[in-house]
Amino acid sequence: MQLFAEDKGGSISSDQAIKGKDYTCSECRGVLRVKEGLYRRRHFFHMARSPLCRHSQKSLVHLAVQRKILEILSEESLFLEHPFHQINRIADVFWQAKGIIFEVQCSYIPLKEVKERMADYASLGYRVIWMLHSARFNRKTLSAAEHFLRPSHAYFTSIDQNGKGIIYDQYEIFSLGRRIMKGSPLVIDLKKPLNMQKRSIVKGAEFELSAKLKRLLRFIYNLILKWAGN
Ligand SMILES: [Zn+2]
Repeated sequence: MQLFAEDKGGSISSDQAIKGKDYTCSECRGVLRVKEGLYRRRHFFHMARSPLCRHSQKSLVHLAVQRKILEILSEESLFLEHPFHQINRIADVFWQAKGIIFEVQCSYIPLKEVKERMADYASLGYRVIWMLHSARFNRKTLSAAEHFLRPSHAYFTSIDQNGKGIIYDQYEIFSLGRRIMKGSPLVIDLKKPLNMQKRSIVKGAEFELSAKLKRLLRFIYNLILKWAGN
């Protein structure tokens, strides 16, 4: 699902599209049509399944978060689903004036993909700010990607498919890949994303020390065994 399609070489928003007319997906060249419901905002859908198309993988919630960012910032230099052909990426939201890419994440993502995406955008001089959806993230156990992103690259969002919810941050403490403490949601001012504060404390140092200590103890233990054996 997506909010933009191609029409006669140009780009058209789902809000302006005509029902029943065929449009083209900029990613997979598949046929798109516009759909809306009583409780669902207008969006394009693929007429035929296109599992490899990055647009077709996006959910209504994903689109609602994209729209919400646009609504909050209401800037002229904001582009949804913006393609960067040089790096073969499509940014969920591109804030050109600030050089920021907003990436909405509602499902699992490998750390490798996160790092590659950020490096690609960095090569063009852009910074990525992630919106991790609380339906999938902000649980007790952290994935490697969430552990990496949270301290200084990601906020959370609870926005549902109707656009209701917030974009927030929180104070939290991690230990051994688990979230052992979290504060209440702090609604953030998206217009100042560069002032992102580090609210996550990672208690990794203690773990390193205890691992080193364990190694040392094992070494002494083996030494004693050897000595006893002799
Ligand atoms: Zn497509």
